[in-house]
Amino acid sequence: MLIVDIVKKHEPITSEEIAAKLNITRAALRPDLSILTMAGILEARPRVGYFYAGKNPKGLISEKIRSIKVSEIKAVPVVIREETSVYDAIVTLFLEDVGTLFVVQEDGSLCGVVSRKDLLKIAIGNADIKQVPVSVVMTRMPNLVTVTLDESAYDAARKIVEHQVDALPVIRPKEVDGKQKYEVVGKVTKTTITKLFVELGKD
Ligand code: ADP
Repeated sequence: MLIVDIVKKHEPITSEEIAAKLNITRAALRPDLSILTMAGILEARPRVGYFYAGKNPKGLISEKIRSIKVSEIKAVPVVIREETSVYDAIVTLFLEDVGTLFVVQEDGSLCGVVSRKDLLKIAIGNADIKQVPVSVVMTRMPNLVTVTLDESAYDAARKIVEHQVDALPVIRPKEVDGKQKYEVVGKVTKTTITKLFVELGKD
């Protein structure tokens, strides 16, 4: 970003001066200057010149991913009951084309997460996978890594990386018979984050 570097070094600086330093005409410089001003990277003060507004493009990206909420990017979760057999869970993975299933109790509250490898691990053993319920192989509450609707896309991505998991259930707290439980209202997966990355790249 040559223009930004010049402004940083020589602020306040007029557009004529920037153009002269770049050896181009003012007209050629104008579109770039207006983009940088609109993006909040430069600030234009009449009769004074351009200032660096303190936001580099990297800062803008980090601001953007922190301002996007989980509620805006979440995907539809695939949920099974804890009594579901390992066999049926594997069939569900194929039918729904997902890698992670969220496991709920009778009242719909989240109790576990079961991943591809959890299912593979039991399937390559000698167990009768039509008889074994997923509750035997799933990772359970309170060891689940979750996000809430008002957390940011950045928070979700950070949890996926830090905890080395593929998917996070998006949860909403609810009280059942005086107990704190969680309803599954969505999911954020590596795919969700990759899609967001592509969307942001388009801009
Ligand atoms: P895979 O096992 O298919 O590579 P993951 O990397 O997501 O998929 O799962 C690794 C382990 O972490 C599994 O045992 C799984 O049960 C567990 N796991 C997956 N998602 C979560 C989560 N959100 N919170 C806690 N544990 C999880």
